[in-house]
Amino acid sequence: MSDVQTEKSDFLRNAVTEDLKNGRFDHVKTRFPPEPNGYLHIGHAKSICLNFGIAADFGGVTNLRMDDTNPAKESMEYVEAIQKDIKWLGFNWVGLYFASDNYDKLYDLAIQMIKMGKAYVCDLNADQIREYRGTLTEPGKNSPYRDRSIEENLRLFDEMKNGKYADGEKTLRAKIDMASPNLNMRDPVLYRICRADHYRTGTKWCIYPMYDWTHGTCDSYEGITHSICTLEFEDHRPLYEWFLKTLGLYMPRQIEFARLNLTYTVMSKRKLLKLVKENYVNGWDDPRMPTICGLRRRGFTPEAIKDFCARIGVSKVYSTVDYALLEHCLREDLNKRAKRVMVVLDPLKVIIDNYPENEVEWFDAENNPEDPAAGTRKIPFSRELYIERDDFMIDPPKKYFRLSPGKEIRLKHAYYVKCVDYKTDSDGNVTEVHCTYDPATKGGWSDDGRMVKGTSHWVSAAKCIDTEVRLYENLFAKENPDEVEEGHDFTENLNPNSLKVITAKSEPSLAEVKPGEHFQFLRQGYFVADDDYTAAKPVFNKAVALKDSWKPNK
Ligand code: ATP
Ligand code: MG
Repeated sequence: MSDVQTEKSDFLRNAVTEDLKNGRFDHVKTRFPPEPNGYLHIGHAKSICLNFGIAADFGGVTNLRMDDTNPAKESMEYVEAIQKDIKWLGFNWVGLYFASDNYDKLYDLAIQMIKMGKAYVCDLNADQIREYRGTLTEPGKNSPYRDRSIEENLRLFDEMKNGKYADGEKTLRAKIDMASPNLNMRDPVLYRICRADHYRTGTKWCIYPMYDWTHGTCDSYEGITHSICTLEFEDHRPLYEWFLKTLGLYMPRQIEFARLNLTYTVMSKRKLLKLVKENYVNGWDDPRMPTICGLRRRGFTPEAIKDFCARIGVSKVYSTVDYALLEHCLREDLNKRAKRVMVVLDPLKVIIDNYPENEVEWFDAENNPEDPAAGTRKIPFSRELYIERDDFMIDPPKKYFRLSPGKEIRLKHAYYVKCVDYKTDSDGNVTEVHCTYDPATKGGWSDDGRMVKGTSHWVSAAKCIDTEVRLYENLFAKENPDEVEEGHDFTENLNPNSLKVITAKSEPSLAEVKPGEHFQFLRQGYFVADDDYTAAKPVFNKAVALKDSWKPNK
C-alpha cells in the first residue's frame, strides 16, 4: 500500500503519504477521540471528516474513542449522541473504544514508571504546583517531594488508590525536567485524586489519569498510525512522545491542524452547555445551535456539512470561517434535491372577481426544475387566494414589478391576474385585493406574447393549510460572540431575534410529509419539516434563505 496516493492534497495527507513511502507505517489507522461531555459540533465535524476521510483515502480505518477521563462531566447520553451524529454524517468506525477501559492498564503503567524512577507522589496542592512550575521566561523549581524513594512512592500511590487521602491532597507526577523550556515537560501530573462517580467505572476509582498520560497510551494500544489533533496540542507532542518512549510502547505520529472557528457562533462545549442548561436555547438540538444535531434539525444535510469541511480545507494557521459559507453549501445541495412548494408566510387575501365561486382547478406544478425525475404535483386554484403581503403595494416605487393597482402579474403555474381594486381598514392597512384573471393565460403563459415582469407564489384560501413556521437568524448578534469586555458574558451577545414563530398558509401537499424532509418554499428559502411535525400540526424550520450572502474572497 506504500504507493497509494490520494487525489486530495494537504499537509496532513502529504505527511501520511510520506510515512507510507518511507516505511514508517505500512497502513493507516486514525481515531476520532471526543470527550463525552457534550454533543458534537461543526468543529468536530471538521475533525471527523479529516480522521475518517484521510483513513479512507489511504485504504485505512478509523476508531471512535471516548476520551473519558473526567468523571464529573461525562455521561452515557453524550456517548450515544456522539455515535448517532457520526453515523448520520455517514462515517463508520472499525472499533469503539473507551479510555476508561484502560484504567487498569494505565495504573499498571504508572507503577512501572515509579519503578523506573520516572514518577513520584507529590504533596503539593494545585496552587503550589502552579507556583513551582515557573513561567515561559523562568524555569520551575523542583518539588520537595521529587526525590522520594521508589518504595515510598509505591506505598503512597497504592494508598492514593485505596482512598487514604482527600481529593487534591496528593498527585502522581512524571519526573522529567522542571527547567524545560516546554512547560508541559515540567513534571506533569499523571494522576489526581477525585471522588466522583464515573459513568462507566462507578466508584471503583478515586484516582483518575490525566489527559496527556491517557491519550497517547490509548493511541498506542489501539495501534493508531496518525494521531491527528488540533494545534493546542502541538506543545504537548514532546510529552506524548516522552511517555511512549520511556515505556517502550509503540509510537503513533501526532500531527496538528488549526481548529475551526465560525462567525456568529461559539464552539466551546462549556459554552454550548451553558446555553442549554440556562435555557437560552431549547436543548442541544435547537436549530440555532452549531451542534451536528442542531444543524440537522435546522435542515442541514450530511452532504452540505461534508462539502463545507472539504472547502475550508486544513491548515496550520488559525482563521475564522464565514458562517455564510456553511449556508452556501447547504443551498447548493438543496437546490439539487429539495422539492419546490408554495407557502405564503405573511398572507394577504386576493379575490379574483371574475373567477367562478366554488370552482377549484388543479394545476400541474413541477417539483424541481433542476431535476425532471422529481416529477410533478397538483396544486389547487380557487377564487380566493393568498399572496405575500409585500407582493402588493398601493403606491409602488418605479421598478416594483409585483402587484399594484392597474398592474398585471403572473401567479406561478396558474394565470395572469390584474389588480382592479383593494380594501383597507381604518388604519390604512390593506385587507384584501381584488383582481381579474385572464382565462387565456392558463398555466401562467400568454399566447399573445404579452409579458409580465412579476411572478408571485400563492395558495388557495379554500384549500391551503395552516403551518407553523419557525424563522431563525444567527444565534448571536456579534460576529465574534466570544469577544466580551471584562466582567461581561458571551450570552450578552445573543441575538434577541434569533427565533420568530409565525403561522403560514401552505399548499395542501405539505399536510403529508415526514419530519426531516427538505423543501424550497418558492422565492423564500429552504425549509425542513421539524421533528415536532405532525399531520395535525405541521411545523417547518427555515434552514437558509434563497439569497446567497456568501462572497468568495470577501
Ligand atoms: P471543548 O474544549 O469545547 O470541550 P474539545 O476540543 O475538548 O472541545 P473534544 O471532545 O476533546 O473537544 O474533541 C474531540 C476531537 O475534536 C479532538 O481531536 C479535537 O481536537 C477536535 N475538535 C474539537 N473542536 C474542534 C474544532 N473547533 N475544529 C476542529 N477540530 C475540533
Ligand atoms: Mg478535549
